[in-house]
Amino acid sequence: MSIHAQSQDFGENPLEVRDTDHYTSEYVHSFVERWDQLIDWDARASGEGNFFMEVLREHGARKVLDAATGTGFHSVQLLRAGFEVTSADGSPAMLAKAFENARQRSHILRTVHADWRWLNRDVHDYYDAVICLGNSFTHLHDDNDRRKALAEFYATLRHDGILILDQRNYDAILDRRVEPTHNYYYCGDNVRATPEYVDESLARFRYEFPGKEVFHLNMFPLRKNYVRRLLREVGFQKVTTYGDFQETYHDKEPDFFIHVAEKS
Ligand code: SAM
Repeated sequence: MSIHAQSQDFGENPLEVRDTDHYTSEYVHSFVERWDQLIDWDARASGEGNFFMEVLREHGARKVLDAATGTGFHSVQLLRAGFEVTSADGSPAMLAKAFENARQRSHILRTVHADWRWLNRDVHDYYDAVICLGNSFTHLHDDNDRRKALAEFYATLRHDGILILDQRNYDAILDRRVEPTHNYYYCGDNVRATPEYVDESLARFRYEFPGKEVFHLNMFPLRKNYVRRLLREVGFQKVTTYGDFQETYHDKEPDFFIHVAEKS
């Protein structure tokens, strides 16, 4: 897979693509470029506020591994706020874009090309926090892959470290509690993100850009309580779940859940 690949390839039966290894060919160069032209980093920053920085500071975290760097949004936010950041991702196209985005904002990213399932093969250090944000964990299609990735995150954390991992509210989608036409958080007005097909082991999202350019992502619809259970089962002692950056999410259906898992 070239890092300059322009088109996605889901083969003849896109609904059968439920494979963890497929993510690098979903984030093709053209999708990555398009995404970043349209997602306004300032608007995203104001939507999230200081939520992640406050959680990190509350736990005394200074040294952070951004395990799902993507185009670099959180890595750059954290560098700006004075955190020490290492930026990892399994997609070379994403890492290249992140490095460029950071450079344009006068930061040099410390990047590591690493798949979560074998993270500690490439990351040889300990961190106060690992972050895995922007609905990234959903790219793992097997229960085993999810346990393996979480165990790798756990192993690279210091004894009192934390993992911050977010996910879309797939329960609401699977249980049909939101309109299928609902537009999703951080996609901005220019991008329409809609669940084109959903069953218990596939959420295929369609991303439509101005000019009718269309891309897809095939993801696993993670149920909130399943993720909380996995986090406990790999060894995290306490898991706190927030909805859309707030601890009290009971009265409305949030788009996102954010889990903060503590190692001790
Ligand atoms: N965190 C970024 C954000 O919020 O904008 C990027 C989110 S993007 C939806 C998901 C990222 O996870 C992609 O950059 C993808 O390459 C990465 N990713 C998915 N599966 C991975 C894996 N198994 N190992 C490492 N990175 C992976």
